[in-house]
Amino acid sequence: MKRSGSADKPKGPGAPPRVLRVALPVPLPQSFDYLAGTADGALPGCRVRVPFGSGERIGIVTGPGGPADGPAVLKPVHEVLDREPVFDSELWRTLSWAAAYYHFPLGEVLNAALPAPLRAGEPWPTLEEPGLAITAAGRDAFAAKPLRAGPGRDVLAALEAGPMPTSALRQQLGRGGSAAMRRLLQRGWIGATSLPPSRPARPVLAGPPLHPEQQAVITAIEGCAEGYSGHLLEGITGSGKTEVYLRLIDAALERGRQALVLVPEIALTPQTLRRFRERLAAPVLPLHSGLGERERARAWAQARSGQPCVVLGTRSAIFTPLPRAGLIVVDEEHDGSYKQGDGFRYHARDLALVRGKALDVPVLLGSATPSLETLALAAEGRLRHHRLIERRGLAKPPLLRLLDLRNQRLVGGLAPTAVQALRDTLARGEQALVFRNRRGFAPALGCAQCGHVWECPRCDRPYTLHRQPPGLICHHCGGRARMPSSCPSCSSTALGGRGLGTERIEAELAEVFPKQRILRIDRDSMRAAGRLDATLAEIETGGPAILVGTQLLAKGHDWPALSLVVIADADSGLLSPDFRAPEHLAQLLTQVAGRAGRGDRPGTVLVQTRQPQHPFWSRWLGGGYRAVADAELRERREGGLPPFQHQALLAAEARDPRALDVFFAAVMALPGEREGVGLIGPLPAPMPRRAGHHRRQLLLECTTRAPLHRLLSGWMPRLYALPQARRVRWSLDVDPLDLY
Ligand code: ADP
Ligand code: ZN
Ligand code: ZN
Repeated sequence: MKRSGSADKPKGPGAPPRVLRVALPVPLPQSFDYLAGTADGALPGCRVRVPFGSGERIGIVTGPGGPADGPAVLKPVHEVLDREPVFDSELWRTLSWAAAYYHFPLGEVLNAALPAPLRAGEPWPTLEEPGLAITAAGRDAFAAKPLRAGPGRDVLAALEAGPMPTSALRQQLGRGGSAAMRRLLQRGWIGATSLPPSRPARPVLAGPPLHPEQQAVITAIEGCAEGYSGHLLEGITGSGKTEVYLRLIDAALERGRQALVLVPEIALTPQTLRRFRERLAAPVLPLHSGLGERERARAWAQARSGQPCVVLGTRSAIFTPLPRAGLIVVDEEHDGSYKQGDGFRYHARDLALVRGKALDVPVLLGSATPSLETLALAAEGRLRHHRLIERRGLAKPPLLRLLDLRNQRLVGGLAPTAVQALRDTLARGEQALVFRNRRGFAPALGCAQCGHVWECPRCDRPYTLHRQPPGLICHHCGGRARMPSSCPSCSSTALGGRGLGTERIEAELAEVFPKQRILRIDRDSMRAAGRLDATLAEIETGGPAILVGTQLLAKGHDWPALSLVVIADADSGLLSPDFRAPEHLAQLLTQVAGRAGRGDRPGTVLVQTRQPQHPFWSRWLGGGYRAVADAELRERREGGLPPFQHQALLAAEARDPRALDVFFAAVMALPGEREGVGLIGPLPAPMPRRAGHHRRQLLLECTTRAPLHRLLSGWMPRLYALPQARRVRWSLDVDPLDLY
């Protein structure tokens, strides 16, 4: 093993041994050279098993290595795992580009792109899918005696028409299906089989006739010159964006092409999958973390084979090979879940545009509330901007009203007007949603006597007070503490929660509305598996109820009985130091407001604030998301902030703050052309301590990308080599979304 960068001496006479350069999933910037040995023919992009340190690693051949100094210096490749490269040429190029752009080791980028079984060195998955078929005995039994209604009969009825992939059958049957399949297998009425890659299980449904607005968007996109074109489709929830995606995907499939559709994590539900499957005449392959690893690998391999299919996935699905691509769609492109928060910190929406260019296919970004980055691209003419204005067959947009919280007697954090609105809504037999993005009982526990606040000793931030079960939990590190009985500084026993969490709102509303159904939906109450689905289903069936919930409730659900939304506290978004906070607040408000009045009743949205005079409100109430976005874009341009400024964040943390001093001093002393690049810091991170680690950061910014990347390219290999870097945990985030 030898670093690829070191000097190579020419070898003496005789055929030099072949050397392969291999990218390994290790946190080092360089690739490594190995003697090819029996792996002589291994192509770039093939996996190899190689010795590394005291063990073995799975790496990817990137090409020929430098000449060997002598056979003794380099170790041989142990095994070649593929005959064909696992990545096709476009994905290979895009991933190499991404490694350079995000300044992240190529070996780790390639590794992140691979499904886990391939990463672990397993053989290439067969495209055959495990399936089930009815046996002769099963057929006889099904025909002979009328079976009791239930999952068993449903299984047989489904397989009567022909064998089916096990996963599709399980999906069709839902609860009880798996147990029934096991019973029937034991009885010999059905048998295991393998099936060619799944075709659509159902007949394809036709879509509704397109609205002229939708038709215009489709005509505009299809009318673009062949090859890459970038599009933004702006339209509120329910305006018919998905219908537009479906038509464009259908057209791509017609041409024998593949499509990739990215959706936010929270949106890849069985309903979404069903809608795509019902409408498209090709396999729709879901790719998300909830899926079994084998199934993911098979979907990946199926896409790699080039057959027409639709990959419908979350963030990491952006790494699916698409040798016959025809279209890429990113739905809810503003969604924060597209940015990977640790390790290889890529942005799937940005990579979608890069891949669209590399694949030479159209890319469509859809959103009700486009990110400012995307709006800026559209304003520069780099994306074509299409709009869908109307809601399809739905009620009028909701009425928006601001409630001033100052000088009001609050109940459960709600102003009297809001409480009355809840009462009226329930009396009409409708549902109301109280939105508060803080779980727990109260964001802090304080002493009423002296003002002492209980803080997590590892984060220096207040503990969140929880009631069920009682205790103090740090929402930053997960640390826990017992409920104290008295104040450590003044011995007072008058301790109380400060502020409101969802648990407290639920408890206080239960006192005001003792006979009403109150459903709390947050990560604490929905921890048990299946609980969220069951609760959402209960909401869908209608009947009066108050829903109290966090962000979990904001997206993607269609509740016809919901007619009132109360935003309990909008101020944290207005007062945050994060320059993106107003953008995110406006997105969230629009999203939550979209939940109200989706049936045949008009909805009402009440927003509570102690800052009613803040200019944000006149913009939002007057011109909606676009007015806020336009104002924010102006302010960002004037303030020299993204998207008019490019940023990279070098962050480090360590238990010992002196290690951070030494690290950043070494970083600041690195040579490199800094012309045009602003360096802010090193400064304590907005959260200076977390889980016992001190945290510091250096922000680099530049109005154009080139100087920033030139500096980083110079720095990175040196940074990896710094001895001072070994005592800290450091990371680089290019285009960070989260500075705070
Ligand atoms: P979005 O993706 O913007 O939220 P959808 O495409 O899901 O919007 O459309 C919202 C609802 O309106 C869906 O139930 C859809 O079936 C229906 N819909 C969309 N386009 C049409 C149309 N042209 N005619 C009738 N119904 C439509
Ligand atoms: Zn006290
Ligand atoms: Zn903590």
